[in-house]
Amino acid sequence: MNEFEIKFPLEIPDDMIRFVIEVEMQTKDPHFHELHMLCFQQAYELFEQENDAHFTYLYASKFFQLMRISSLDYLHSNKVEIVTARNESCKHCRELQGKVFTIEQAFKEMPIPVKSCTKFCGQENAHPDIGWCRCLWEPVL
Ligand SMILES: [Zn+2]
Ligand SMILES: [Zn+2]
Repeated sequence: MNEFEIKFPLEIPDDMIRFVIEVEMQTKDPHFHELHMLCFQQAYELFEQENDAHFTYLYASKFFQLMRISSLDYLHSNKVEIVTARNESCKHCRELQGKVFTIEQAFKEMPIPVKSCTKFCGQENAHPDIGWCRCLWEPVL
């Protein structure tokens, strides 16, 4: 694996989470799923507080989701697909349903999470400037 580079906008994450990420990424076999969940939970907490920083953590969680997929030895494909919340997703997210990227492209473009997402759990969000993108990456088998 290439040397880990923090490419996503991680300037906001608090020191503890950054520390956990950095320590974990220095291990031989980082637990990407745990890092994904750590960032996801933090994103959700901030989202509930209507804190814009949630997006950075949601972004990081998608980054680790991609890292995990790219680390799976049994996959013989280097492609990933966006899976949205279908009918429950907002119009911005809905356009991405089923879009396939190479993993390299996905890292480069990071099309999800969608910053302009307007929905939360299928409802139009009460806070028009802050949404909860439920799109995720799945490997293309
Ligand atoms: Zn959306
Ligand atoms: Zn979305």
